[in-house]
Amino acid sequence: MELLPENLQKLRGQVAIITGASRGIGRAIALELASYGANVVVNYASSSGAADSLVAEITAAGGEALALQADVSKLDQVEALFNTVIDKFKRIDILVNNAGITRDTLLLRMKPEDWQAVIDLNLTGVFLCTRAASKVMLKQRSGRIINIASVAGQMGNPGQANYSAAKAGVIGFTKTVAKELASRGITVNAVAPGFISTDMTSNLSNTEEILKFIPLGRYGQPEEIAGMVRFLAADTAAAYITGQVFNVDGGMVMA
Ligand code: NAP
Repeated sequence: MELLPENLQKLRGQVAIITGASRGIGRAIALELASYGANVVVNYASSSGAADSLVAEITAAGGEALALQADVSKLDQVEALFNTVIDKFKRIDILVNNAGITRDTLLLRMKPEDWQAVIDLNLTGVFLCTRAASKVMLKQRSGRIINIASVAGQMGNPGQANYSAAKAGVIGFTKTVAKELASRGITVNAVAPGFISTDMTSNLSNTEEILKFIPLGRYGQPEEIAGMVRFLAADTAAAYITGQVFNVDGGMVMA
């Protein structure tokens, strides 16, 4: 990673929390925001080695980053995470709710625990982190919140009743919170990725079948999601965008 020249570091002095940043899309978002000068909080659940090496990469390039373990589906751990961030950095400018899991299986085989685990992290986790960040952003009268949704929450996907319900919930949540926080200068948007090359999609067996539904004919890269997140987080023009869902999906969903 390289830091941009100082005059292009639009996020210099700003603090960004990215949940689930040890791997995949979250990692790419952390690198992107760090290259724009943000101090990034690399949250993770269990991959401490991956989180530490990401922090090392950012600091070696001259950026600032801090790895913090927390299961963001748990209220007490979210509170501890945000307390630590405020103690250290005194402010929160950007929250990216990215942490997510899948527990795919067809409806009749889906166990209540498969349902609950996905709802707890992919939907309740977004609520818990957004509530914690918004307390700080309301006082600052500024902030940008970006929720990573999914095309599954817009068009459904067999085997993902739990996941698509959570992601559709994230989209509704994004719109409501955008309306609640708009008067205080806080924007809330969602990014809906299609199929992106990460650990989450690495064991899908029906790749040929999937590619038929992607007009651009390939999986996306984590950096392509990170670019959209960076626009929403850093660009001055994005100050007038809130409550929207941006698809970065190779053309899968065309509204
Ligand atoms: P991934 O490669 O599996 O990475 C998941 C990340 O979430 C890891 O950093 C993981 O940390 C973290 N995480 C898992 N459970 C957590 C918890 N309880 N608390 C905090 N962090 C936790 O996934 P990805 O493909 O990058 O997906 C990132 C987001 O994009 C998810 O919300 C996903 O639903 C969404 N998305 C992905 C795709 C895709 O095609 N990949 C498509 C649409 C939407 P550890 O390393 O510690 O486990």
